[in-house]
Amino acid sequence: MTDALDFSAPTAAPHIAPTHAEETAPPEPRPSAHLKLWWPRRVFIAKSARDSAVADRARHVGAELGAEIVELSDNAVRGLKGESERETYRNGKSSIAIVNAPPSALKFQPIPPSADFRLDLARGCPAHCQYCYLAGSLSGPPITRAYANLDEIFAQVPSFIGKGKITSKSQARAHEGTTFEASCYTDPLGIEHLTGGLERAIAYFGRQFEAGLRFTTKYARVDDLLDLPHNGRTRVRFSVNAEDITRRFEGGTAKLADRLAAMGRMARAGYPVGLTIAPIMPLDGWQDSYGALIREAGAALPGDADLTVELITHRFTPGSREVLLSWYPGTDLEMDPAVRSEKRNKFGGRKFVYTKEVMREMKAWFEGRIARDLPDGAILYWT
Ligand code: SF4
Repeated sequence: MTDALDFSAPTAAPHIAPTHAEETAPPEPRPSAHLKLWWPRRVFIAKSARDSAVADRARHVGAELGAEIVELSDNAVRGLKGESERETYRNGKSSIAIVNAPPSALKFQPIPPSADFRLDLARGCPAHCQYCYLAGSLSGPPITRAYANLDEIFAQVPSFIGKGKITSKSQARAHEGTTFEASCYTDPLGIEHLTGGLERAIAYFGRQFEAGLRFTTKYARVDDLLDLPHNGRTRVRFSVNAEDITRRFEGGTAKLADRLAAMGRMARAGYPVGLTIAPIMPLDGWQDSYGALIREAGAALPGDADLTVELITHRFTPGSREVLLSWYPGTDLEMDPAVRSEKRNKFGGRKFVYTKEVMREMKAWFEGRIARDLPDGAILYWT
């Protein structure tokens, strides 16, 4: 069941006119004329971030979208707590705060298996995915906090070059340099129209020849990214799933066909691209629905696309399960510990994954199908 809330807009906001790139884009594949944009109800501007370019843009775009602009007298966002969990959820998901990243966000942490380090442009996401991996990871009302001190964040990058354990140490991926993942705690494209953070990050990494940026998105409005001086240093991965799963569980995100079309447009603009197929679920008929997804992804891409594939199965922790069931009490997403295998990490944390037999069967099927239908797609990992 898809969450009933919908904060997205049916059409682009007036200030977001089609770019030259869109007007001259090749006829196939065309993006939908109705790409979803998130419309926040409230934009909070923290005192310490009020003079930043990110705050300027959020004020301007937020006002055009009809949001209330709240200039804070300090840096604390208040008033999100509702009378029920549901109301708190709604208040959080309909708000964005422009703040400075805390000092901890300037010390990049390792993030295997995707990349060397995490580089956060924001924390929180406005979409309503019923399996969201952020549930249980971020505390408090689910507001999105976008960072304004981007130059300070980017200034940390050089001191991390060569120090990672994923691409920095991999012969096969050495050409990517030291990699920085921007979508660990947000979907940066989902809020890009309000912040412009991704645009600046892509331009920054376009000048770094020993480093690479990576991000994953469930959104599709890539128009403003197509002509950036990316120099192939940013890999854009599109997070996709079987069509029926997308429709049932991914409220507020872009349509699957739009994501695949956006992937094709980015590849044609010279970006390395990727498919993040996640979270994989063995629902009835899964081979047919994932087979169609893989075929459609292949059809959306130009023949010379630089493509990677990441394969992530569905999992949950006791904490994420509790939060998700409070946010989406009517969900029919399977989160039953009794039918799963329990795994413990070195800190004693527990998570529930599919059984070995199910994992083995799905892994073999995905590897075979990708080799057949996306032969140039390099599988980075299965988990
Ligand atoms: S798009 Fe990603 S981060 Fe956002 S709600 Fe969905 S799963 Fe969570």
